[in-house]
Amino acid sequence: MTQSIAIIGGGIVGSTAAYYLSEFNKNNDLDITVFDHGCGQATKAAAGIISPWLSKRRNKSWYELAKDGATLLNSIADKTNMPEDIYNQCGTIITRNNLEDITELYDLAIERSKDTETIGEIYKLTPDEIKRHIPIINSNLPGLLVTGGARIKGDKYTDHLLKIAKSNGVSVINKEISINENVNVVCDRKEMQFDKIILATGAWTKNVLSNLPLDVDIRPQKGQLIELSINDINLSHEDMPVLMPEGESDFIPLGNGRLIVGASHENDKDFDLNPDADVIDELLNSATSLLPSLSAENLIRVKIGTRAYTSDFSPFFGKIPGYEKILVGSGLGSSGLTTGPLVGKILAEMAIDNLSMDIEKYRKPIENYIKLVK
Ligand SMILES: Cc1cc2nc3c(=O)[nH]c(=O)nc-3n(C[C@H](O)[C@H](O)[C@H](O)COP(=O)(O)OP(=O)(O)OC[C@H]3O[C@@H](n4cnc5c(N)ncnc54)[C@H](O)[C@@H]3O)c2cc1C
Repeated sequence: MTQSIAIIGGGIVGSTAAYYLSEFNKNNDLDITVFDHGCGQATKAAAGIISPWLSKRRNKSWYELAKDGATLLNSIADKTNMPEDIYNQCGTIITRNNLEDITELYDLAIERSKDTETIGEIYKLTPDEIKRHIPIINSNLPGLLVTGGARIKGDKYTDHLLKIAKSNGVSVINKEISINENVNVVCDRKEMQFDKIILATGAWTKNVLSNLPLDVDIRPQKGQLIELSINDINLSHEDMPVLMPEGESDFIPLGNGRLIVGASHENDKDFDLNPDADVIDELLNSATSLLPSLSAENLIRVKIGTRAYTSDFSPFFGKIPGYEKILVGSGLGSSGLTTGPLVGKILAEMAIDNLSMDIEKYRKPIENYIKLVK
């Protein structure tokens, strides 16, 4: 019997779920539709840094999800022949004001490398060695290089995976939907029934569930970053690592003479997508502090997206209490490009009741984030 599955949201979670479901559909017994309006999508606005291993967050389930998410992303890139233009393991460099902090991070990275190969090699770097990797930088700080760190272009990732899913028969409808009190999808006033619904709606998860008696712990966070042209700066090579300096914005070289600097974290702007002059100035100051030859003239565009946050900053995923046909994955915060692929794969496997992994190590109880209102 054919099972119909709706995936709401085509960001990193939804597009990965669509890709996996389409791969699982060898017997053609799944009818899969993705609905995505795309406006404000965090995935396409994101900076694109994949480097969870040096994080000092104490949330163990988050670290497991991020570590295994980074590994899964690597294998998706490999399996789908993702071009380097989309996913590039260019390495990440973190700098700190003093050597003790670098030594502490080095020890942490060495300890964590026992549990994951994706981290690659780990090297302490002097300021001169950092300059050799990133010749355009003007900094005298020591750092740490993790060769497995990567950058990903979120918009191209989702295009790549949705293209494969479509070629495997998945339909993609670029429209906004709602879910009504009958737990059906409503698109263009037409009510559609699905056996399963995967909600990959990021910051909009509370809005999409507003017709059901549920308490949803999600708030939107605005993120802005700037894209700069570095064409006129004499570059000796294009394949520079990502740079994460202490107390400054991150620097993500995109290749083709482009550099991203960001991002901001604004909790009081709701779903606003307008650029803020003061934030852009701050990002430009951050950029010029490390690359003095840059100026506002190098600014090509501002990218803005909305992240999803929970009260304890943890992501959540699973069946919605009281509405078992809806599977949800949200609250990915500022590391969703790293955790999102694994959340998408888990949701796809849950939708067809065919889990291939132990998911409990990756999550706290879903009732902490979504519960029925009595
Ligand atoms: C500026 C910025 C920088 C970031 N940098 C990084 C980084 O360097 N590394 C990292 O790991 N993470 C980063 N993140 C975080 C990461 O981008 C997000 O956590 C992740 O993309 C969330 O993915 P998602 O699929 O859950 O949600 P989204 O990508 O937001 O996708 C949700 C989709 O659902 C759609 N949708 C919602 N409601 C409806 C509806 N009713 N009908 C139809 N469609 C709907 C939306 O339009 C959207 O397309 C960054 C985020 C921002 C904003």
